[in-house]
Formats: sequence, structure tokens, C-alpha cells
Amino acid sequence: MPHTQLIDDLKRIVGPNGVVANPDALMTYDADGCVMDIGEPQVVVLPTTAEQVSGVVRLAARYGVPIVPRGAGTGLSGGATPITGGIVVSTARMDRILQVDTRNGRVLCQPGVINWELSNYLKPYGYQFAPDPSSQKACTVGGNIANNSGGPHCLKYGITASHVLGVEMVLPDGQIIWTGEGAPALSGYDLTGVVTGSEGTIGLVTAAWLKLTRLPEAVRVVLALFPTIAGASATVSQVIAGGFLPAALEIMDRLAIKAVNDMYRLGLPEQADAALLIEVDGVEDGLDDLLADVTAVCWRNGAIDVRPARTLAEQNQVWAARKNAFGAMGRLAPTYYLVDTVVPRTRLPYTMEQVGRISAEYRLPIANVFHAGDGNLHPIILFDRRDSSQNQRALEAATGVMQVSIEQGGVISGEHGIGVEKQDYMTLLFSTDDLAAMAGLHQSFDPNDLFNPGKVFPKGRGCGELAALRRAGVAWESLKHGVN
Ligand SMILES: Cc1cc2nc3c(=O)[nH]c(=O)nc-3n(C[C@H](O)[C@H](O)[C@H](O)COP(=O)(O)OP(=O)(O)OC[C@H]3O[C@@H](n4cnc5c(N)ncnc54)[C@H](O)[C@@H]3O)c2cc1C
Repeated sequence: MPHTQLIDDLKRIVGPNGVVANPDALMTYDADGCVMDIGEPQVVVLPTTAEQVSGVVRLAARYGVPIVPRGAGTGLSGGATPITGGIVVSTARMDRILQVDTRNGRVLCQPGVINWELSNYLKPYGYQFAPDPSSQKACTVGGNIANNSGGPHCLKYGITASHVLGVEMVLPDGQIIWTGEGAPALSGYDLTGVVTGSEGTIGLVTAAWLKLTRLPEAVRVVLALFPTIAGASATVSQVIAGGFLPAALEIMDRLAIKAVNDMYRLGLPEQADAALLIEVDGVEDGLDDLLADVTAVCWRNGAIDVRPARTLAEQNQVWAARKNAFGAMGRLAPTYYLVDTVVPRTRLPYTMEQVGRISAEYRLPIANVFHAGDGNLHPIILFDRRDSSQNQRALEAATGVMQVSIEQGGVISGEHGIGVEKQDYMTLLFSTDDLAAMAGLHQSFDPNDLFNPGKVFPKGRGCGELAALRRAGVAWESLKHGVN
């Protein structure tokens, strides 16, 4: 099919202003926040309704062209990168909040609504959308759903999956379905659960009913400073073991402190090897007692200082430093590779030691800023990608972190998804049986593998091949122990 024919047909569906085909403008869409892999889209469309998305998807199916859903492109695993070309469907213009239904504790919105703007919109009602990725000022709820995103406050409130009540989505054949109406009770298969975390590979979310979470009456924030990262990490498990559930438990190590200290005028001492950010929230009554109990655990674990944020402005300053710490890495190196793995909380001290070992082995500095309460590590490997040796060492160091995390009983992604970045590591975690079961599910939605192809499933053994294993009875049995 000639390119011009595709563009003309798309313009008829979304209007001339809804199509981006200029090569310079297309470059904006050739990657997400992970620039290790890049792919050029044939064209980008900016629909405003589910019907337009359906029209685009039907057209793509007719022409056999891939569809790549895209929110804000802040993903860190190449999920929105058009690795095999195709039509990028941007939800940037599907940004309306459609209904706030406080009586039923739910809000209906389009997928391109920015996470931060949704919570701000809900504030006057006394509510928030609880998942708060550090990228929340840019990322969309559609991207949050597709990646099942987390955030600092997900320790207490749960990750995105706990907040999605039902979605409208366009399936790969163009059909528009609802997976639920936002009512708490569900019958039949949990399709909302299937689409959450599916990274745009089984459909495009065009609207969602999301759960409203009450804003807490009061909040307290402290920064506890430790002479070692192991001490800060051990404190996290002991706080939880003590029966406390803070709203957030986040760690920044010495390098991360160095990156944010001046920028946010935190005035943290150089001898601190780690800062543990603790937030407790709830009713005003008794909150100071709770904070005192939690900080007592810090002191018992060798904290060298505990600094409360005394005003709302100080709380915001500490949180800004934490949430913008990745951006501050530009002060330390031209490029960073942010790894996202999870280990059981009790394995954090050992795992952090191993991250230090990996840093020395590959001769690359590694900063750490992470959701410690969830055991969700974010080693940030600092390097210069113009130097091929550093590039290679960064990749090997990332593999090392993933291997250590799996050895400790963890997983290879806490919240950033698999995308392109981690697809080849899936075999470290899943057997052929596991992967074939996932591929079978994927194929029942997308038999022609046109929705965000080349993602999630390992390259050497693509989704179609894995699904065929399941269908092929005998071959399946004999290959059962093949990939491990
Ligand atoms: C500085 C920084 C900090 C971050 N901090 C966090 C954090 O704390 N927690 C966290 O979880 N993540 C974090 N991230 C990663 C990222 O912001 C999240 O994964 C976010 O949810 C992605 O949203 P997005 O709108 O940018 O999606 P995109 O990057 O555009 O897309 C992400 C995936 O979702 C799919 N997708 C997008 N919209 C739809 C849709 N409507 N229907 C179906 N599929 C869709 C895409 O195909 C892709 O696979 C961070 C990123 C950065 C750059």
C-alpha cells in the first residue's frame, strides 16, 4: 500500500490536523524515555474519540500495519517505541475528565489525562488518584494502566491495578468493548486485570473508570540520614515488621543526594550515605505518635540525624528532590540507564551491597533512588553513551543487577514494564510453559500480532511461535523444558 494512500485514509478518519507525517516531527516519536532502542513510525495519529481509534485500528488491520499506542512517552522500557514502525496512536488529545462520581467512589476519564492533573482536579472534592509515579506531571493514566505503574505512595495505597475499576478499549479488530462499569462486583473473566499491565499489546484503552481515594487529613514527612545504605535498607523492613505502614518509604543514596542537594537546597551532610524519606498520613490525632514510633526505629538502626519537614513548603521541597532525582542525574553524567527490579524487602541490604560490587566490577558509578518500602530498586547506571565501551559495560551491569535480583527471589520489573528493554530477560524469570500461556492469551486478542509487536515476549522466541507451541500438543510436550 502506498504511504500516501495510508495518510489520506487516516486523514479521513481523524481529520487533517490529527495526522503527523512530517519526517522531522516524526522524530519526536521514535523512542520513549529509554533511548537504548529507537524505531521510526510511518505516521502518527492524534484521535479524540474511541470511534476514531476504532477506525484507525480497522484500517491498520486491513493494511497489515502495526499499531503502537502512546501516552506521554515517559516509559522507561521502550514500550511506546515503534520498534517495527507502523502507526503510533497518541492519546494526547483524549485528555478529558468525563465524570466525577463521588457517591460511587469513581471517576471516568479519557486515557490521555495527565496523572498529576487528575489528582489536582479531584482535590476540591477531597479525593485523589492514588498511584503517583515520579513522572506524574507528564505521564498519562492510559500509560499508567498499560504499565501497571507504581509510585512512592503505592506502598500504602497499592499500584495502578488496585485503582482501575473498568476500561473501554479498542480491540485489535477495531471492536470497542467495556471490561466493567466501575462497579465493585464483577462476574466472568477479569478483563480489566488482563489489560492492566499488558503494555498496549492487546488493545488500546480509550476510557477508564478509576477508583477515588480520600485525601488524608494530615501528613508528616521526615528525612532520616544513615551512615550506610545497608542501615537505611534494614530500617525499612524493621518499620514494616513493627506493624507500621507509612504512606511512603523512599531511599536516596550518596550519589543521588549529591545530585539533588544543591539543586533543592536540602543542605544534607556529605557524610550521609543514604537518606530515607518517610511519610506517614491519616487523621491528625495520633499522627505525631506514629511518626515518633517510626523514627525510633531509625534511631535504633544507627540513623545519624532525623530531619522533619516542618511546613508544607518544606514537605514539597523534599518530595520535589525525590521525584526529580532522575532528572538531576544530568549533573553527574551525560547518560544514565535506569534499572527497575524488585527483591523481597528483607533482601535489600544484601542486594544493595551487590549493586555496589557491580558498580566496581564494571567501573561505572551507580546512583540509587528507589521505592524501598516495596523492595523496588532503581539502580541508575551513569555513563557516556558516546563511548562504546561504557555503553557495553552499562548493559552488562544492568544484566548483573537483574540476575542478582532474581537470585534474591525478586523479579525483573517493578513498574516500568518489559517493553523492548527487558524482553530478552523474560527467560531468566519464566519457563517456556509460562511464556506460552501468556502468548496464548495475547494471541486470542491479537492473532495477527499487530498491536505493539516486538515487545514483552523474548526476541528469539516471539509471541506467535510461543502460542503455536501451546496449540501443537506433542511438540509442546517435547519442548516443555526448552527455554528456561
Ligand atoms: C523521571 C521518570 C520517573 C518515573 N517514575 C516512575 C515511577 O515512580 N513509577 C512508575 O511506575 N513509572 C515511572 N516512570 C515510568 C513511566 O513514567 C510510567 O511507566 C508511566 O506510566 C508511562 O506513562 P506514559 O503516558 O508516558 O506512557 P507511554 O510511555 O507513552 O507508554 C507506556 C506503555 O503504555 C502503552 N500505552 C500508552 N497509552 C495506552 C493506552 N491508552 N492504551 C493501551 N496502551 C497504552 C504504550 O504502548 C507503552 O507500552 C518514570 C519515568 C520517568 C521518565
